[in-house]
Amino acid sequence: MTAIDSPKHKKAKALKPTSRRPAKDLCSECGLCDTYYIHYVKEACAFINQQIAELEAETHGRSRNLENQDDWYFGVHQDMMAARKKQPIPGAQWTGIVSTIAIEMLNRGMVEGVVCVQNTKEDRFQPMPIIARTPEEILAAKVNKPTLSPNLSVLEQIEQSGMKRLLVIGVGCQIQALRAVEKQLGLEKLYVLGTPCVDNVTRAGLQKFLDTTSKSPETVVYYEFMQDFRVHFKHEDGSIETVPFFGLNTKELKDVFAPSCMACFDYVNSLADLVVGYMGAPFGWQWIVVRNDTGKEMLDLVKDQIETQPVNASGDRRNAVQQSIPAYDKGVTLPMWAAKLMGVVIEKIGPKGLEYARFSIDSHFTRNYLYVKRNYPEKLADHVPEYAQKIVNQYKLPQS
Ligand code: FAD
Ligand code: SF4
Repeated sequence: MTAIDSPKHKKAKALKPTSRRPAKDLCSECGLCDTYYIHYVKEACAFINQQIAELEAETHGRSRNLENQDDWYFGVHQDMMAARKKQPIPGAQWTGIVSTIAIEMLNRGMVEGVVCVQNTKEDRFQPMPIIARTPEEILAAKVNKPTLSPNLSVLEQIEQSGMKRLLVIGVGCQIQALRAVEKQLGLEKLYVLGTPCVDNVTRAGLQKFLDTTSKSPETVVYYEFMQDFRVHFKHEDGSIETVPFFGLNTKELKDVFAPSCMACFDYVNSLADLVVGYMGAPFGWQWIVVRNDTGKEMLDLVKDQIETQPVNASGDRRNAVQQSIPAYDKGVTLPMWAAKLMGVVIEKIGPKGLEYARFSIDSHFTRNYLYVKRNYPEKLADHVPEYAQKIVNQYKLPQS
């Protein structure tokens, strides 16, 4: 009997694409509600029922140790390192460690399919989630689609296909909902390869960001908020345009980020087995967080294809974070010459390595805490995880 037939497995009618989602404005379009697993939405949705600590205990065998500051910031982990591929994949977001692990898992028969996200033919930034069954399909999903992506919309197909071993690649809100319904999927083994995620946008929001920030929005192939405190835009002709963070038009861009991302406290993808980002690593390197034995097994597959170095930290983020809180709140934008100068200074003396990651987490959690407090005061107590509350408590926030 398949899980679908199982009396334990309940279904409900998926919502139409145009229907309002149960999380309302806070919906991150994770895709769950596009499937019959919407039946579980009240428990599973990251924005209706925040349950990171419980799911951590189920997935990793323990939740964050609240006495340990590294756990507050980076989540449950057994190892962290900086890494890069010896031969990077051309056109990947960074060096392509994510795509490489997925391809190895498929080639070695560890999984029968990989949930990842390609883009539509018409629009390089319009996400199109798929279950990849060939290395070519995985490669076609490389590079970030910096837009909300309904990765879980393919969940019904998993059950229908009879697949038993699956890798899912995704960001925190998708993975929280996935972990909540994991036992209903009828799988023998689920592997989860996560990336950190912050400040995501709808497709329309992305256009506003590109139009406001880049000199040539129509030729942008990808962009990233880099450790040198600049946004790097890569254009079709291979050229790189950089814009200092401090020169962003914060007033114009204040509403650009999706409300879900303004209310998110899972920047580091707490529930993935293995996380691959960049922000805790030196410039040009990727940042790897191994959360559990499954994650170690996945990383070991590519050990001979990557070089690694230990993570480290320098500088002190706290003053910069404290000063950024009222500046962001008031929508202060520096003139470009001052922003460039500030970028150069802060790059020289500012936080680096794990301290840069903490800087980014602190800045986003304090901003998001104020957002939830002001817009969803009734949700504040349950929605903000304890580790995030501890991070926010380190700073002085405006009273209203
Ligand atoms: P690649 O080999 O290029 O593969 C990228 C993978 O990402 C693909 O498998 C694809 O399926 C998946 N993907 C692409 N877009 C999405 C999406 N919208 N939702 C879910 N999955 C997607 N890292 C940080 O350290 N700090 C950050 O602030 C940060 N912000 C991010 C914001 C977004 C929206 C995303 C998607 C990622 C972010 N990352 C961040 C992760 C980082 O940018 C890289 O994705 C990661 O280091 C992997 O690089 P790679 O070259 O190994 O990936
Ligand atoms: Fe449904 Fe996901 Fe939106 Fe929550 S975030 S309402 S689970 S689609």
